[in-house]
Order: sequence, then C-alpha cells, then structure tokens
Amino acid sequence: MRRVIIAGNWKMNKTIPEAIELVSGLKRGVADITNIDIVVIPPYTALSEISDMLVETNIDVGAQDVYWEEKGAFTGQVAPSMLKDAGVKYVVIGHSERRQYFGETNETVNKKLKAALNAGLSPIMCVGERLEEREGGKAFDVIKDHVENGLAGFSKDDAQKIVIAYEPVWAIGTGKTATPQQAEEVHKYIRELLAKMYNESVASEIRIQYGGSVKPENINDLINQQNIDGALVGGASLKVEQFIPIVKESAKKGA
Ligand code: PEP
Repeated sequence: MRRVIIAGNWKMNKTIPEAIELVSGLKRGVADITNIDIVVIPPYTALSEISDMLVETNIDVGAQDVYWEEKGAFTGQVAPSMLKDAGVKYVVIGHSERRQYFGETNETVNKKLKAALNAGLSPIMCVGERLEEREGGKAFDVIKDHVENGLAGFSKDDAQKIVIAYEPVWAIGTGKTATPQQAEEVHKYIRELLAKMYNESVASEIRIQYGGSVKPENINDLINQQNIDGALVGGASLKVEQFIPIVKESAKKGA
C-alpha cells in the first residue's frame, strides 16, 4: 500500500518570520495526522529555521532544487549534503518552472536525482506537458520522455525511492485543474510505463503525486483516484486555512 504524500511547494515566497508563522499554524492544525507524509518546501533561506521547528514532528521539510556537485566554484548552487545539513529530507527536481525559466533538462534532472539519492535525500521528480503539447496530442510522449530520461540508469531500488509528481504545466498556478479523470489517465500511464521499465512490483510501490491548482475544493476527487498518491501543492500551501483541509482530506485516503 502506497503512503499518501502531500507536499507544499512555497516557491519564491515567505520571509523567515512569515515562514515561522505559517509552520506554527500548520503544526497545530495537523498535529494528529500520522497516517500520511506531510512536507513543507520553503525557499532555501528558511530551510534551517523551519527544519529546527519541525524536529520530531509529523511534518518533513523539502527543498525546491539541488545541484549535482558536492562542492566547489558553482556560485549560487546548493549541494545535496548542504540540504542534509539543513535538516532537509525531500527535494523537488525538474519542476516545470525550472525547466521553463532556468534551462533544466532531462539530463540535468537525471544528474540531480543521482546526486540527491547518493546523499540520502528523497527526490520528488516533476514531469508534465505544456498546453500546446496536450492540444497537439503529445501529452503522453512528453511524459514518457520525462520519465524515461529522468530515470535513465536507475536501478529498481533507486527508482523506488523517487516520488514522481505529475504536473500538467497548463494547470500550474492557473486555477485550471486537470479533471480527476485526466489526471488518473496520466498517472495510470506513468505506472504502466514504470512497469515496463522495471516490473509490476516496483511500479506498484512508486508514489505518484498530482500537482496543478490543487485546492480544498478539488482534493477529494483527485486523491480518490486509484493511481493518485498525493499532491504537490503550490499556491494553496501558502495559507494554512487552505493547506490544512487539503492534508486532512487526503488523510482519509491514507487511513
Ligand atoms: C506547483 O508549484 O508545483 C503547483 C502545482 O502550483 P499550484 O498549486 O499553484 O498550481
């Protein structure tokens, strides 16, 4: 049985005091939920502070990106061991905003995944098609390309440690959500692809989150799809009054 995982990607939002305020409210609001994984993903500047606040709680901390080298002359980059040092457990890799604005490719995603796993981090690999790709009937080709090349060279054991987030780019930050059926169709496709790449048992273990305008109003229909194992939440994770109901609703599936 796959454990549900709800993660809040704060993107480039929240000062340290704002981050502390948000996490204080979240800690209180979800204190009794232990049957699913709950993750907050603040900007780098707040990671250490937030990790300290969440030691020995039911909430884990993630980072929004990582570099593949361990140290050296790479101004502006952050190494996997530095994230571990800051108390980080998860790391988002290949978010569509990084692919779109910062030149992230399947090759860099693959290198980052390897480096993250080597350091003992749990990667969340984002995949998803743009609007024109969906409209051009290319959605499944794009997903296949992201999954196969992102995971190139990974053993079954390593693949099982990775969470995949299906995030249709046209649904991120736009208020447009994929219908539960559209999302389930792609999640099922990804699982079948993983079964071909590895085997049925590995495919059935890998968690696949949905991301794209997830809100309290739509989480129920999404999380109840067979192949949807959680959500990567952007905008709605910045407000406790929205993120807490998303976590609580998802915990019903985890029960
Ligand atoms: C995201 O940032 O991964 C995301 C899904 O954002 P939003 O929920 O705001 O669409």
